[in-house]
Amino acid sequence: MVDMKKIVSLCKRRGIIFQSSEVYGGVGSVWDYGPVGVELKNNVKAAWWKSNVYGRDDMVGLDAAILMHPQTWEASGHITSFADLLVDCKKCKKRFRQDQLKDKKSCPECEGELTDSRKFNLMFKTSIGPVEEKGSAIYLRPETAQGIFLNFVNVLNSSRKRLPFGIAQIGKAFRNEITTGNFTFRCREFEQMEIEYFVRPDDDQKWYDYWVDERFSWYSRFGIDRKNLRLRQHKKEETAHYAKSCHDIEYNFPFGWSELEGIANRTDFDLSQHAKVSGKELVYFDDEKKKNIVPYVIEPSGGVDRALLAFLVDSYHEEKVRNEKRTVLKLHKELAPVKAAVFPLLKNKPEIVEMARKIREDLSGDYNAAYDDTASIGRLYRRQDEIGTPYCVTVDVQSLDDKKVTVRDRDTMEQDRVPVDALRKVIKERLGER
Ligand code: ATP
Repeated sequence: MVDMKKIVSLCKRRGIIFQSSEVYGGVGSVWDYGPVGVELKNNVKAAWWKSNVYGRDDMVGLDAAILMHPQTWEASGHITSFADLLVDCKKCKKRFRQDQLKDKKSCPECEGELTDSRKFNLMFKTSIGPVEEKGSAIYLRPETAQGIFLNFVNVLNSSRKRLPFGIAQIGKAFRNEITTGNFTFRCREFEQMEIEYFVRPDDDQKWYDYWVDERFSWYSRFGIDRKNLRLRQHKKEETAHYAKSCHDIEYNFPFGWSELEGIANRTDFDLSQHAKVSGKELVYFDDEKKKNIVPYVIEPSGGVDRALLAFLVDSYHEEKVRNEKRTVLKLHKELAPVKAAVFPLLKNKPEIVEMARKIREDLSGDYNAAYDDTASIGRLYRRQDEIGTPYCVTVDVQSLDDKKVTVRDRDTMEQDRVPVDALRKVIKERLGER
């Protein structure tokens, strides 16, 4: 298992993840995705969207706003219950989440005495409008789910979906986490990929089991080794206030097994609560029963940043090639930030450079393709291996005559000569192979 330090250093070196506001000393647990990272993140989100929205007839998408009516959070229970128990060390003044401490009495860092626990709400509070006054308080959403519940009737009426059907959403969420660390695993600003899947109340268990299975296999379909994934059912006392049951999909991170995604049976809790607090009917007309019902909800809720981190860790390989270390991300090709990189073998030969640049331009019609001539060919290959580029294309002197280029495969490192005319088609086909 790779050390987290290596992942953090690779991320910085190759433009995957940087600390937010680094020039000012950084902001704790807030991260920026660099030129390579943003591609990887977009690909993770696109893979999720493709599987869950485009791939299904029973799902539609949504993009709700981050700021929502403050009553949302009263109804959902976040104002009263979305809190961790916090303790402070009287000696070193560090803060901890009580549930994460083995010894509840003394500080894990300096063994100092701990204060009594108190509730700490994880929502970021700000104000809306020009005057900061009572009544103008508003929160940054701590989960995307509530935007889906509030739009349930809008989506139902405009999409004409019948039960069972789901609404999928990807978006930012914010939590003022007490304990942070482990790189992007626990951020204060992060992205969620959530589905609220509405079902008939009698069908809830069937669909719950279905989504636990489906979401578990999604991670392995995109390359995560099954032996690094496991399911963990929540014990009664840890199940959230709104849920009937909950399973976590956990990944074997270098810092231990930790949650990647949670699948919860939220019952009719949210729709009922919002109906009660808003006074609006949030119901579905059941054609079979000929009456209005409040659907139950199965919620698979995953984090983009956590999934991305797991994909990075799982694909990280160090190999010895001709006595030299090769670091390579064996990412699923669909997730790879750059699909093909084109190099001129000699950068002082204008015809070769021109041909290489033209090839990159041509390939970029299909996907993100890169051109690089800033180092020796060996270095260029290593750079692309480190970001998981599946194919490297080299243009050499012979290419000018025979109109063929060398294509090198990231995983096998095998090379073959491909006619320039057929290159776009060949790489596209090879990328299609799983
Ligand atoms: P944890 O127990 O790790 O705090 P949670 O159970 O509170 O997580 P959920 O409320 O179930 O998390 O959120 C759903 C998903 O959102 C999580 O599985 C995770 O992938 C992601 N997520 C939640 N909090 C964070 C965070 N602080 N940073 C990054 N991702 C997060």
